[in-house]
Order: sequence, then structure tokens, then C-alpha cells
Amino acid sequence: MARYTGSVCRLCRREGAKLFLKGSRCYSKKCSFERRPTPPGQHGVRRRKVGEYGLQLREKQKVRRTYGVLERQFRNYFIDAENQPGVTGENLLRSLELRLDNVVYRLGIASSRAQARHFVGHGHLAVNGRPTNISSYQLRPGDRIEVRESHRAREPFKIAKETLRSHQAPEWLTIDAASLSGAVVAPPSRDQMPLDLNEQLVVEYYSR
Ligand code: SF4
Repeated sequence: MARYTGSVCRLCRREGAKLFLKGSRCYSKKCSFERRPTPPGQHGVRRRKVGEYGLQLREKQKVRRTYGVLERQFRNYFIDAENQPGVTGENLLRSLELRLDNVVYRLGIASSRAQARHFVGHGHLAVNGRPTNISSYQLRPGDRIEVRESHRAREPFKIAKETLRSHQAPEWLTIDAASLSGAVVAPPSRDQMPLDLNEQLVVEYYSR
């Protein structure tokens, strides 16, 4: 599976916003965006006028990069969202939120979506008791996500167990810190997805 392997802090600087792609570093003074909030590259500090298309493109990239999804897969999410009943932009965000890697991150088992993807890819997680290594796996209400029992003694999960005790998961998820597990209660509504993203611009971008 292809994935972006470049500098992730560069992505935040490009989008002009903190995308929180690096776990605890994003909340520290080491955050590159805090230190240098200009776009990357030699001409980053140059002031440019951004048109309507530019705004739509940047917002689409921001959403896509927040969830760590590549262009083709992201477009497929959009096509699915369009075919679902309801508001397309909200459907799109909901599908992204219900990805297994995102839920592992939201539960607090991983400190970033990239780490969550790593955990899933290495087979540390199970959904409804079945080992699953597909990061994009779409969860549904009632699904139970857990760190596999035989993997719980490993160092990253010992740390995660401590983190989980004080972690505040969104209302649409429940956490059980003792068993390093959680469950999807219901699909998230827009106000339960606290994202500083304008999904309408993404819809406009693909509807040109
Ligand atoms: Fe973005 Fe986090 Fe890097 Fe800061 S530390 S620039 S928020 S990825």
C-alpha cells in the first residue's frame, strides 16, 4: 500500500494549520509550525493571493492529509459519500472518522494516526475478536476494537494503558482502559467531529 513518506511537518506548514500528525511533539515547543508557520520552500514567505479554486484545493488537501489518505482513495471516499443519503461533506468526514486507524487514534491507543496505522499494519489490533491489519477498515456501530491479548504486554501498549485511564474519547466511542479496548456506539454526527475543517469546500472542489 502506497503511503506518503516525506516530512509531515512540511504538510502543516503547507496547509497553514496544525494537522497534529506527530503525536506529543505537536503539543510541545518543538512543533515546526509553531516555530515557522510559513509555507515550505524558498519562496514560502512570499505573500500570494489565493483564489476560490486555491481555497477549495487547500481545504481538500488539509482533510486528506489530516487522515493520511492518498488522492485516489480520498476521491473514492468522496464518491461513496455522494452516493449516501444526507449531506455529502458530513458523510465524507464520517467515513474517514470510522476508519480503523482513526478510531484507534481517537480511543487514545495511539498518539497519532500514523502510529495507529503502524499498530494496525503490524497486526496488534483485533475487531470483534478477529485480528485485522487493514487501516482503512470501516467500523460500524457495535464494533469492538481491542489490542490483541498476546500483544498487550508490549511496551507501547503499557504506555497506552496509562494514557487511556485519563483519555477523553469522543461521545460516539466507549473506552475500557483495563482491556485496552473500545467500541463504536454510533456513527458520529458533525458536532461530534471536532475538526477545524470546511468540508463544503471539499465538496465544491470535486463538483467543479
Ligand atoms: Fe504539524 Fe505536529 Fe509537526 Fe507541529 S509537530 S508541524 S502540528 S505534525
